[in-house]
Amino acid sequence: MKTVALLAALLAGSAHAATPADLVLRNGVVDTMNAKAPRATALAVSGNRIVAVGSDAQVSAWVGPATRVVDLAGASVIPGFTESHGHLMALGDARLDVDLTAARNWPEIVATMKAAAAQAKKGEWLAGWGWHESKWNEPPVPLVRGFQTHDALSAATPDNPVVLSRADGHATIVNARVMELMSIGRASQAPEGGEIIKDAAGLPTGVLVDNAMELVHVPPPSAERRARALDLALQECLRKGITSFEDAGSSSEDIALFKDYAQARKLGPRLYVMVAGYDLLRRFDKPEIGLGDGFLTIRAVKLVADGAMGSRGAALLEPYEDDPKNSGFYTTPPETVLATARYALEYGFQVNVHAIGDRTNRMVLDTFEKAFKEYPRVKDPRFRIEHAQILDAKDIPRFAKLGVIASMQGIHCTSDRPWAASRIGMARVTEGLYVWRKLLASGATIVNGTDVPVEDVDAIKNYYASVTRRPAAGGEAFDPDQKMTREEALRSYTLAAAYGAFEEKDRGSIEVGKLADLTVLSKDLLNVPDDELLKTEVLHTIVDGRILYSRP
Ligand SMILES: [Zn+2]
Repeated sequence: MKTVALLAALLAGSAHAATPADLVLRNGVVDTMNAKAPRATALAVSGNRIVAVGSDAQVSAWVGPATRVVDLAGASVIPGFTESHGHLMALGDARLDVDLTAARNWPEIVATMKAAAAQAKKGEWLAGWGWHESKWNEPPVPLVRGFQTHDALSAATPDNPVVLSRADGHATIVNARVMELMSIGRASQAPEGGEIIKDAAGLPTGVLVDNAMELVHVPPPSAERRARALDLALQECLRKGITSFEDAGSSSEDIALFKDYAQARKLGPRLYVMVAGYDLLRRFDKPEIGLGDGFLTIRAVKLVADGAMGSRGAALLEPYEDDPKNSGFYTTPPETVLATARYALEYGFQVNVHAIGDRTNRMVLDTFEKAFKEYPRVKDPRFRIEHAQILDAKDIPRFAKLGVIASMQGIHCTSDRPWAASRIGMARVTEGLYVWRKLLASGATIVNGTDVPVEDVDAIKNYYASVTRRPAAGGEAFDPDQKMTREEALRSYTLAAAYGAFEEKDRGSIEVGKLADLTVLSKDLLNVPDDELLKTEVLHTIVDGRILYSRP
């Protein structure tokens, strides 16, 4: 009955509603991302859909006695933020593990872990995350291949296995207890696509890069801890205005937990799952779309084709500027990328490949191109390259030409740029490092995200980095000619992001008929001056027509 009345009102295009709305937001600045009507002051929601967008006067016709009316008092409404590339369970784990991001040097980290070990039971595994030697105020002593060694940590934590992840997730340092348990020693060989860093005497320093991290088998967390991590992650996303989250590499255990949550209607934000790797993908013979009333979609696969620039694992066409014998490595061979692409095209999945170095980006573009030619019947595969950080000039126009989406992280630019030139040299920085403007100008679609927990899942900080290319702490803009406009950056976080998940018909803009996924902000992101952007606060996060978060 309600639906019929609603449809009648929509068909009539009328300003007066047959059935009052459940929720009306008015007296605000609504940035719709709908090119035909980019601005409004009010909107109405019935159930989980938007039923009216317009002026306060137009939308007032939808107010009935039971309608919840929110006076925005000049606040701004945007289509809810989509985090296009994050790691949801790792975000929750990060809130349960020791946070090392603020540590100023290696001795501080050793002291922090010593204190944590004093609180723990003997033999209990301890995890920390977020160290980044390039951000420290003094270099560690001793220093081997640019990294600290385990000695001080092992001396401080003799009774507990300790694993500390680098901020980018592409390296860990472990203590002697872990190396003992896992039999990592002088004779150990790293698996392909990884490295066990060893000192001049040939002994492991405790630093494991990329696939070498697999040598450590941390005991699996309890079901209770996993649920606690997921709860914390979902809550943090809502606090930061995220209404959809694209999980870049979910394990089968993660997916089982997400399904439980979807069934119990406990999700929010919505989740778009990229399953981790080809082997897991092959357990699916079709995408699973809109489970749990539209809150969970499993439609993509994530591959990791190289390492990171910071740990010099990104595969480059020419060697590293500061390590001339090293040009990085693939962590997934091209044959596997091709096999995955074929399987995905056959069964209707999207392929999203982590590629940081210019050699890897070219390899993935070549492989996608070959696979697309084999499957001309698939008209709109929307394959993605995750990160697309370092591009050779010849490859930049290929994204638009092949319809490959560049899934980039604005804030990686301002985090990495201070040391990136020492890794790859200024010529490559200028040619192809985080070249958003060159990609957009060539017609490519960019979707934005934070790679949380590598960066804070905070969309405002990421938006600021995307439109200013200035670090939040201040300073000059990096390569300012590559900034996104305000509108482009908002698109990369909303409508383009929805397109990147095949969901632009349902969300990503504020239009009649779309899902009511909305973020209410204290400032208008399209017009607030640069220096006030970071003061923007999330006032409400609305998912599926329900206000799931309001600023206390
Ligand atoms: Zn990632």
